[in-house]
Amino acid sequence: MPVVAIVGRPNVGKSTLFNALTRTRDALVADTPGVTRDRIYGRAELDGRTVILVDTGGLDEAGGEVELGAQAQTRLAIDEADLVLFLTDARAGVVPVEHEIASDLRNRGKAVIQVVNKTDGLDPDMALAEAAELGLGDIFPIAASHRRGLEQLGHAVVERLPEPEDSSVPDDDGLRLALIGRPNAGKSTLLNRLLGEERALATPVAGTTRDPIHATIERDGVRYHLIDTAGIRRRRGSQEGIERFSTIKALQSMEQARIVCLVCDVVEGITEQDARLAGHVIEAGRGLVIALNKWDALDKDRRRAVLVEVAERLDFARFAPVVTISALHGSGLGELTDAIEHVQAAGEQELSTGALTRVLRDAVEAHPPPSVQRKTPKLRYAHGGGHFPTRIVIHGNRAKGIPDQYQRYLVNCFRKHFRLTGIPVRLVFREGD
Ligand code: GDP
Ligand code: GDP
Repeated sequence: MPVVAIVGRPNVGKSTLFNALTRTRDALVADTPGVTRDRIYGRAELDGRTVILVDTGGLDEAGGEVELGAQAQTRLAIDEADLVLFLTDARAGVVPVEHEIASDLRNRGKAVIQVVNKTDGLDPDMALAEAAELGLGDIFPIAASHRRGLEQLGHAVVERLPEPEDSSVPDDDGLRLALIGRPNAGKSTLLNRLLGEERALATPVAGTTRDPIHATIERDGVRYHLIDTAGIRRRRGSQEGIERFSTIKALQSMEQARIVCLVCDVVEGITEQDARLAGHVIEAGRGLVIALNKWDALDKDRRRAVLVEVAERLDFARFAPVVTISALHGSGLGELTDAIEHVQAAGEQELSTGALTRVLRDAVEAHPPPSVQRKTPKLRYAHGGGHFPTRIVIHGNRAKGIPDQYQRYLVNCFRKHFRLTGIPVRLVFREGD
């Protein structure tokens, strides 16, 4: 998955653009209020292609320590990006530091699209004329807060991205598993456990014999494709580098996976970063299993405290199974793989129209939906609409106005009936028959 970084001075509208591009209607999951969102990394669908969007700290005149730190982060994000969106503010005009940023981007030979924001209510020619001084080529006028110009921008981004690389996972009925987690959570220890204990069947893909991108193992008759094993092993450098690298890697690997195991380091406790990663998995619609690693290192009181942290911080992911393991000692691995296989089976289920419609009718009978514009919505029938995430398409009248709370109720009914453990569920409403 390509990486696109949004760069620009503070206040030009970077976060607004980031939110506008990442917050698609489908992205917010009806059954998961309070999904922890990442304000820096997001997944965006641009013109049919999925990209990782990075909102950088903002480049400004060099000053105190803090600004320098923020700039170092931004530089790193620029280095990792396939394409940079350089955002300026039509109202503020072009300021000297933006000339510096522009020449810096040119010197690095980065693919750049210049984007002029806040063009709402302005004469577009005027707005563009001043921005053209920066000499970065094509300029796209947008109004991020009005969602204006975003479609054309998305199209331009996709046109300039490198062709997708083929590092595809074998397309068989194997279980595609990605391990993600903070640095030091124990991912590579767990990976080696999984690889070492079991016979490695094959280590194919992309001609890297030393460091395979994916690895295939068989465990109790189940074939596992472990996604991006190279990314898990290869991770040395500065702490900052690792942190950024691992989030981008995590986003990229969960794209190819069906099931994601979030490895948490219980010695450190459940952190914001763990919650953000869980939020990413849910948004990507993948099956989620939470592994509480280093369980061996905790006494009874700490263990209890960690379980409370899980309940509080990962509350929005409470449909995901939680397994305690010690990758170091190899304990809990059977429970972990059982949970993974369980989630896979739940996500693969073919949900028949008859069964879905029965659950829908029972749910509506027990609690009718609240009226929309003084009329009661009629929910007629439901059918399956895809896996990972499990999509359920509901047909009816005035179905589109159904409030989130009632959607969550429906999701819970479906979840309970079909035992959709660990599987994010999306409802799609269709008007009419
Ligand atoms: P950042 O610091 O670059 O991330 O900028 P923000 O996204 O926080 O936006 C800074 C301010 O500009 C906020 O008050 C936004 O509401 C405003 N803003 C963002 N986009 C637009 C736009 O398209 N038009 C107008 N008029 N204001 C905008
Ligand atoms: P990664 O960065 O997520 O790949 O983490 P590593 O697998 O490199 O592990 C980081 C550190 O945690 C290493 O020192 C491991 O030995 C240690 N570690 C991993 N799993 C466990 C565990 O289950 N228990 C304990 N006590 N330490 C562990």
